[in-house]
Amino acid sequence: MSRAPVSVDHFRAAMLLSGAGDALGYRNQLWEYNESGPAIHQELQELGGLKSIRAELPDWPVSDDTVLHLATAEGLATGKVGEEMLHEVAGRYVEGMKDMEGRKPGPSSILGVSQLRPGEEGGYRVPYNPEGTGCGAAMRSMCIGLRYPKPDQLLSLVAVAVETGRMTHPHPTGFLGAVAAALFTAYAAQRRPITTWGLGLINEACPIARNFVQGREYAVEETERDWDYFCDKWQWYLDLRGISTGVGPVVWPEAYGPAERDEAYKSFSLKGWAGRSGHDAPMIAYDALLGAGADWEELMNRAAFHGGDSDSTAVIACCCWGVLYGTKGVPEGNYAKLEYRDRLEKSGEQLYALSH
Ligand SMILES: [Mg+2]
Repeated sequence: MSRAPVSVDHFRAAMLLSGAGDALGYRNQLWEYNESGPAIHQELQELGGLKSIRAELPDWPVSDDTVLHLATAEGLATGKVGEEMLHEVAGRYVEGMKDMEGRKPGPSSILGVSQLRPGEEGGYRVPYNPEGTGCGAAMRSMCIGLRYPKPDQLLSLVAVAVETGRMTHPHPTGFLGAVAAALFTAYAAQRRPITTWGLGLINEACPIARNFVQGREYAVEETERDWDYFCDKWQWYLDLRGISTGVGPVVWPEAYGPAERDEAYKSFSLKGWAGRSGHDAPMIAYDALLGAGADWEELMNRAAFHGGDSDSTAVIACCCWGVLYGTKGVPEGNYAKLEYRDRLEKSGEQLYALSH
């Protein structure tokens, strides 16, 4: 399939569709952790199918994912770098947490942000949290790949994903999820073959992240101790799909409908909560991207309408999909009146300008 070279339209679409995927997967709290993909598909049919859905207030708000993704994106869009940028982003996470009415932020995000002291020396650091394995860092980090989309910017991408990720998720299973979400978005912009993305994550980005953490004198021992799960589970997944060498064809189960996907996604997870953790939210997003190709409806069926953390898997998948395909083939009602549409599109444009 031929794809247009990446343009500002793709960056704008990436931010916008990530928000749309979040709102659609969330359905005002009804579909996040609904626990049954088949039940969601039934309700979707009763609503007239994806094409009939107008994702707008009051019934389809964006959730915590988009509020915090916007915080990262607008922080990076200031063009600040280094510690100044980290304080900027930390400040925006603090502000973002004031906009969480009805949006269901996760426990590690609430705890981590409450410990941030932007503007104070070292105020973007929080104490190590052995429970900080959730997907809260991953779900807000795709835009880091829009700020640093080029292969020679990998070190910056990893450094920013690690440091902003551990503002709330200091456990590597949490912050490596931020690396994965940022990396896949950058790979989409590079038009890198999708069957190589997982390999790039564990062979290229994770070793850089480990080296970076070892040089930062913060929670080095704890991070080393807790390191392996993320990479081991990703290796397991790539073996399962037959793409551990980066080459297809992708191996799929014979039947892989909503019921089978619920079971499969649970098997990706840390404790049976599909998509809840830093490793498996991007994993489900990747699985959906691999299976859906350019088909928006199929992407949503796989990434947004399942029994797990459906808004967080969708926010990641839809951002990458927007970079690849723009809004082509997406029903206008799915995004035309989306909450925060202006901010999403504007940050996409600003990140494109900064990186091109
Ligand atoms: Mg959410």
